[in-house]
Amino acid sequence: MSLTQDKKLTDIKVGDLMISSEKVAHVQVNNPLEHALLVLVKSGYSAVPVLDASYKLVGVVGKTIILNQILGLERFEIEKLSDMRVHEVMNTEIPCLSGEDSFMKGLNAIINHPFVCVADKEGYFDGILTRRAILKQLKRDIYTTDL
Ligand code: AMP
Repeated sequence: MSLTQDKKLTDIKVGDLMISSEKVAHVQVNNPLEHALLVLVKSGYSAVPVLDASYKLVGVVGKTIILNQILGLERFEIEKLSDMRVHEVMNTEIPCLSGEDSFMKGLNAIINHPFVCVADKEGYFDGILTRRAILKQLKRDIYTTDL
């Protein structure tokens, strides 16, 4: 049975809806951009979390930011993919949630992002909350509430 089956929206926590870290594709801060692009293309995701060597969350990197970095005047400078590292291009200005945060806080955070990272108090990566998970839960709530 789903963790949220019989819960009211006000009782649901971000941790109930998140995809846990073991199931999330990620890259490491010192990986070459070539590796990050491979992970993104193979997984089909537009962006993934960036973790440091101790599995703390440090940012997010996506296909668009990588392709922009290697875009020259007339061609993609593919050689840059092996010269540059993820930390040189990643976005560090990202929102972050805790597993204990409320559904409403998650809903608010997800308005401007397809996914938001979840980390514990020390910054260790716990998983991600996707817009899809929030929308699915809202749909379930609408269908089960007597209108
Ligand atoms: P979705 O809601 O499944 O369309 O996912 C939205 C975005 O969340 C994707 O484009 C990815 O950037 C990210 N995402 C979703 N699931 C995963 C996953 N298992 N691993 C890494 N990133 C993910």
